[in-house]
Parts: sequence; C-alpha cells; structure tokens
Amino acid sequence: MSSAPSQTLDEAAASPASAVLQALRPAALTRVHKFGGSSVADAARIAALAPLVDDGADIRAVVVSAMAGTTNALVAMAEQAASGQDWSADWSALRERHLATADTLDPDARHGLRDALGRDFDGLRDDLLALASATGDLAPLVAQVHGLGELVSSRLVQAALGGEAAGWQRLDARDVLVVHPGEMGVGVDWDASRERFADWRARRRPSRVVITGFVARDADGRSTTLGRNGSDYSAAIFANLFDADELLIWTDVDGVLSADPRLVPDAMVLPTMSYAEACELAYFGAKVLHPQTMAPVQSRAIPLCIRNTLNPSAPGTWILAENPAGDAELSPVKGLTIVRDMAVLELAGNGMVGVPGAAERLFAALHRAGVSVVMISQGSSEHSICCVVRAGQVDRARAAVESAFAEAIADTQTQGVSVTRDISILAAVGDGMVGIPGVAARLFAALAQARVNIRAIAQGASERNISVAIADADATRALRAAHSAFWLSPQTVSIGLIGPGQVGRELLSQMAAVLPRLRASSRVDLRLRGIANSGYMALDHFAIHPDEATTRLADMSTPSFDVDAFAAHIRAEHLPHALIVDCSGSEAVARRYPEWLAAGIHVVTPSKHAGSGGWERYVAIREAQRGGARFMYEATVGAGLPVISTLRNLLDTGDEIEAIDGMLSGTLAWLFNSFDGSRPFSALVRQARELGYTEPDPRDDLSGLDVARKLVILAREAGRELSLDDVDVENLVPEALRGVPRDEFLDRLEELDAPMQARLAAAQADGLALRHIAHLSREHGARVGVAALPPDHACRHTRLTDNLVQFTTARYASNPLVVQGPGAGPQVTAAGVFGDILAIAHSLSDGIGLHA
Ligand code: ADP
Ligand code: ASP
Ligand code: MG
Repeated sequence: MSSAPSQTLDEAAASPASAVLQALRPAALTRVHKFGGSSVADAARIAALAPLVDDGADIRAVVVSAMAGTTNALVAMAEQAASGQDWSADWSALRERHLATADTLDPDARHGLRDALGRDFDGLRDDLLALASATGDLAPLVAQVHGLGELVSSRLVQAALGGEAAGWQRLDARDVLVVHPGEMGVGVDWDASRERFADWRARRRPSRVVITGFVARDADGRSTTLGRNGSDYSAAIFANLFDADELLIWTDVDGVLSADPRLVPDAMVLPTMSYAEACELAYFGAKVLHPQTMAPVQSRAIPLCIRNTLNPSAPGTWILAENPAGDAELSPVKGLTIVRDMAVLELAGNGMVGVPGAAERLFAALHRAGVSVVMISQGSSEHSICCVVRAGQVDRARAAVESAFAEAIADTQTQGVSVTRDISILAAVGDGMVGIPGVAARLFAALAQARVNIRAIAQGASERNISVAIADADATRALRAAHSAFWLSPQTVSIGLIGPGQVGRELLSQMAAVLPRLRASSRVDLRLRGIANSGYMALDHFAIHPDEATTRLADMSTPSFDVDAFAAHIRAEHLPHALIVDCSGSEAVARRYPEWLAAGIHVVTPSKHAGSGGWERYVAIREAQRGGARFMYEATVGAGLPVISTLRNLLDTGDEIEAIDGMLSGTLAWLFNSFDGSRPFSALVRQARELGYTEPDPRDDLSGLDVARKLVILAREAGRELSLDDVDVENLVPEALRGVPRDEFLDRLEELDAPMQARLAAAQADGLALRHIAHLSREHGARVGVAALPPDHACRHTRLTDNLVQFTTARYASNPLVVQGPGAGPQVTAAGVFGDILAIAHSLSDGIGLHA
C-alpha cells in the first residue's frame, strides 16, 4: 500500500541525463521550500514568506500551491462549464480576489502583475468557453483550468519576493515536468523530466526560482495535474531534480501530528518520523502530506521537514530515512488516521474451507474490475474472506466477485457476497510496532471500551500498520479513544471545579503549586478544563491554569452556568477520564451526583449533602459507582485527616467496627478545650466567633447538627443504614434562644452560662472534664452531645481545634485506633479534597476512557 509511485526512479537517477546533471551538480547548498494554499491565502500571508525563504542557501526553489480555496473554485467552474451552467460570477470573483492581492503586493505596478494576471484570467475564460463546446477528450482542457491557481499564485509570490530584479525567476512546471497516470497515482517520467530540467537549468542558470506546484504535462505535451493536494508531490519531485539538501514543506500546522487535529484536539507534533511512516500515514488519509511525496526525496535521502508558516519558530517534523534510536519508546504508534467512504465486502461459505485459490480468484476478479482493495482480512478458519474497498467501487466489486464465484454460489458452497456500507478505516502507524507485544491489544481494548464494533482487522505485512474497519458513525469516537490510549498518560483527568469559595480557591492554589511536578515525576496529568459558580462558568478545551481560574470566571460577563453543559464539557471524549470537584455546598449540585457517576464522571466533594442527606440518593450514588466512577468525600469528616480512608481500610481488611467515638467539630473542640471555669462559656463563644472558628451564627455549631451529619457519614460508611433523624442530638442552644434573630441571640449569649457552669462544676467534682463528642455503637445508637470524660480518655488529650476519631474494632478492641489532628480550615480541607483527586488519578491505570 505504501510502495513507491514510480518504479523507474532509481534507474532514472542512473540514466545518461542524470549523469550529465551529476557532472554539473554544484557543491552549493540547495533548499526547496513549498508553500501550501493557506500559506499564500492573501497578500499579507504572501508578503510574510520572504523572511522564511531568506535562508542563506545558494540555490533556492519555492514551489507554490494556489491561494486557499482557488482550486476548489476552479474545479467547480470546470464542471459548470462542461455542463452548460453559468460560471461567470465565480470567474469574476476569483479574478477580483487575485487582482486585489496583486494591487496590494505590487501597488506601483513595478512587476506588471495586474496585466499578467488579467491575461491569465482571459485565458481561463477562453478555456471555460471552450469546455462548453468541446468534444472528445476534455481532460487536458480541464487540467488547464484546474492548474490556473498555481500559475497565478506563482506570479504573486515571485513579485512578493522582489521579482526578477531581486533575482527571482519563475518556472511553469509544465515546461519541465512530464508525468503519466499509474496504478498508484501519477508517476513521473524521470528521463524526460530530467532532460528538460537540465536543459532549462543550462539556459537559465537559476539560483532563485518560484515554481508552480500541482501542474505538469503528459508525454504528448498535454496539460495535466498531479492530483488534488499534489503540490507536496511537485515539491518533492523538484527537490529530487535539484538534488536538494533539504525540502521544507510549509503549511498551517506545527508539523505532522499524531492524529488529525480537527478530530483530536490533543494531537501532538511528532518531532521525527521515517519516510515509510510518513508514507503510510499519508496513504491512510493524513491530509498534511500527499502520499506520493516521500518517494522522490527518499531515493536521494533528502531530509524533509514540515513547518508552520504561522509559527515559524516551531521546529516542525523531520522526515528522514530512519527514526532516531529510542524513538519508539515514546510511543510505539506514531500516528492514527481515519479513511472514510469505505465498504466491507465479504465472501463467506463452508465451501471455501481449505479450497486453494479462493482468495486468489477473488482478488483477481477485483483487479480485473479495476477495484482497488484497501484492506484485506481473512479469518483463520478460511470460512470467509473479507476486504475493504472504496464505497464508490463496491457495486462493481460485488458484481465482479459474484460472477467469479457464480458456480460456487449456485452450488450453495458459498453463502454469497455481502456488502456493508458506511465504513471507515482506522489505521495505527509506526515503524516496527506490530512486533511490539501489546500494541494491538491496547488498540482493541481502547475501541472495546469506547464501544466501537470492529468489522475487520488487518495487520500490514510491513509491520508498521494495524488497520481496523469500523462503522462511519463510530469513527471520531474510535480515533479519540485510540489516541488517548497511545498518547496520553493513562492518568490524564479532565477536571471541573464547581464553587470556588474558600476551599475551592485554596484547592486551586495547591494544584497550581503541585501539578507541574506531578506531571513530570509521575504520569498524573490533571487538566482543569472548567470552573463554575452559581451564575457563571468558564470552559477551556485544553486546560485553565489553576492560578488564572478565578480571574477567568470573574471575566465572564453574561450568566452562563448550565450544569448539564458543564458536565458534558468535562466529560470530553478525547480525554480518558473526567472528574468533577464540588466545593459549592449546593444541594442542587449534589442531586446530580448519581447521573454524573453513572456517566463515568468521578465526583469529589467536601460537602456533606450527599453523604448525610436522603438515604435514597445515598443508595443511588452507591449503585452508580458500579460502572467504575468513584465518589470520594474524605474532607467531609475531619477535613484533611484520613478518617474515611482509615475506616475503609479497616472494613476492607475484614475488621469489624464496634464503636466510633470522637470530636468531630473543631469549633466545639476549641470551646470545651478552653472551658475550665476561669471564663464564662459565653465569653469563649464570643472569642471563637472573633477568631473565625464559628459559623457567622454560632448556633449552627452549637446545635450539634453539623457533627450529627458527620456521624451519619461515618455510620453509613461503616455499613449502617442511618439518617440524620436517627441521631440523638443535644442542642446546646436553650429552647428560648433557638428561634430569635442572630443579633438578639448574640446579645443574650450569657443565658448559656448558668446551665453550662453547673455541668462543669458537677463534672469537675468527679475529677472529669467536659467535651463535645459523637458516639456510635450498637448498644447506644448514634448520639451527639456534651459528655464528662475521665483524664485518661483520648478526647482529653487534644489541642485547640483538633478533631479526633476513635475506632473500636474487633482488632483494635482494648486499645482503639485513633486519628487525630487539626480538622478544620480551608487549607487542610482543600488538602483532603486534593488527596481524593490524587487517589482517583493514581487508581487509573488502563488509560482508556470509562465513558463511551
Ligand atoms: P496545505 O494547504 O499547506 O497543503 P493542507 O490543508 O493540505 O495544507 O494540510 C494541512 C492540514 O492537514 C492541517 O491543517 C490539518 O488540519 C490536516 N491534517 C490531517 N491530519 C493531520 C496530521 N496527522 N498532522 C497534521 N495535520 C493533519
Ligand atoms: N492547489 C491544489 C489543490 O488544492 C494542489 C495543492 O494545493 O497541493 O489540490
Ligand atoms: Mg496539502
């Protein structure tokens, strides 16, 4: 599939004409540049070429395409003319575009551009008129029309480079290039071309020349072209004729990418590739290069570099004889391509088992019918032979095969020929990758997980291509899944953050500090692709720098938050994993968790809504995780302390939880740690509020509800079906103060003092001290409130706002397991959230999207 287009290339290189040329061959440095349609799209782009070709080479040739869109317009005009339709409006528009460009590039008419282009367009008009009335072989006239774009663009470029005055000559490739149609595309008549080229060179002795791409002549001197996108091929042929030291193909992307960037946004620039790989990729549809480009440069080992006119400082892709050593270690697969408009043709039947020559007969029939077979696959059972052909040829193919097997089909030896349309081929290309174990498995696993059905598989004998036939409708999804399996770290996670409040903002700054190191030292690649608050959202296709995230959000001017659109964006098809961090504290957001999890999106939150809310939703969340996405909420209890993970480890290793006790509120811990009778309780509450330890309304802490929620979360994690109503909660706010406005409550805080002082005195009389604790056990159920504890109780040995959780289990029976430390504040809470995100990322190893 990737063989050279011309069998005579090497022989031609050794021909007499070539010997003459060899003798003339200058030792000077020769460079050929080629500029594609987008690089000459308008006057500004054309003017920008001059510094790019000012490269210091002694001999410089610049091969040009038509201005972007021109060839399409010419093709349409030729069709209109041949079918008697009106083409005059299109003709005028194209002429106008070129004349306007000429006026900008040559305002003083120093190069006589306007006149020359005017004559060219007059010629085009004559050709189109001729097409309407011509009979016989229209092909040369049509080719003449198609090739006008290169003729006129070469004039524009010549003028922009300074014209003849600056030593820039112009060559119409039709004056030297002789070609013929061939099975693999257009082949070059090397002898004739070399002779004409040598002749032209001897006459003109050019050191700087602009050459038309795409166009040529046949052996009878008639106009022809090298086929659509053929200017790359022209450039390679001229690089060969000049025996250039280098060929630079300038286009609108940074080089050859690992996949078509229009389909795979994360495609990466390949620094190097071999001629063979480039050839294979181009044959399988990578538009960046015409498939025949490599042969003429390969035969003279001319290095070829693909560069970006829009980004000239990028190093581009070097295409060379061999890949540098160690290259395949980066990824065994170099590139992935999709070829559309295919059909599968299958010949099946028991009668074919072991019958020699069935495949031969099939392919001979297809060959006779002029059908080119793009892919072949035969099951080892020999029960069926299946091949992929172009959709436009499948009817012809079917008829040919049916007639070749007419007897067998009539005999019912074969079940006949079946055809499946709307097929695409996905090809993975890389030197030697077929010999590397696991490459094919990885591809198939990626496709299976993206739920792509594979219709046929072929592994190129070249060992550098694995192709699969799939339904057209699956093609983009398949390409993205395969790309992420080979090119992205398996731990690449698309992340969305909802609610950049205190914790959210702290999380962003922790991420900003750590992400570069994570990417470098492990393969964890966390990409923040969206941020939202209740009104707005900011999304990015690639990633938002965590440091810039809140500014990006603040810059949004119209309210835009749409929770469904947000989730859909985060769950990008081209990235293997998705995760939403919910720091919003919003019940409405928590309601979405089950559907997100079911769709494969991991969820991490410091919010207690889901963990301690309705039992039904809790169960739905548990169920939804069966698909593989995980719900993590370590920061809901004890902030960054490893409370939930410790409990999980105990359970996972088969321990049995007998009781959970602890101090689960930093605020209440501080209050009771400080309450020794020397100052009234109300004074401590006021101080705590000033220190920012309490909620704005301290009743939210004193009610014990927040602690009860945490206890529910722990109880559920331990396997109990417990809800908030089941917890016996002591409210430290006296009845009379529960319903009053906040300010009144704060004014009347002293009403708390007398009863609290009495409890403290009673406890102290027994040698005990007060602590606010939560308790869970089978005997005593779930309770939250103030208790009097002896000096040896773990809760007596805490400091300031410490949280403490004590697990009494079958294994930790007489000496319970204790987790203790600061359990409140944005920093440690954000660290708890971050820890969950990393735990999920580290668990992702297969590199293939959960979601399809
Ligand atoms: P030019 O006009 O310069 O010849 P083309 O449009 O023919 O440029 O080819 C460049 C385009 O090819 C890119 O803009 C890109 O969209 C597309 N393309 C498809 N596959 C690839 C790939 N694997 N690597 C780079 N570009 C690709
Ligand atoms: N202008 C031609 C085309 O559009 C050739 C090329 O640009 O390579 O196909
Ligand atoms: Mg091109």
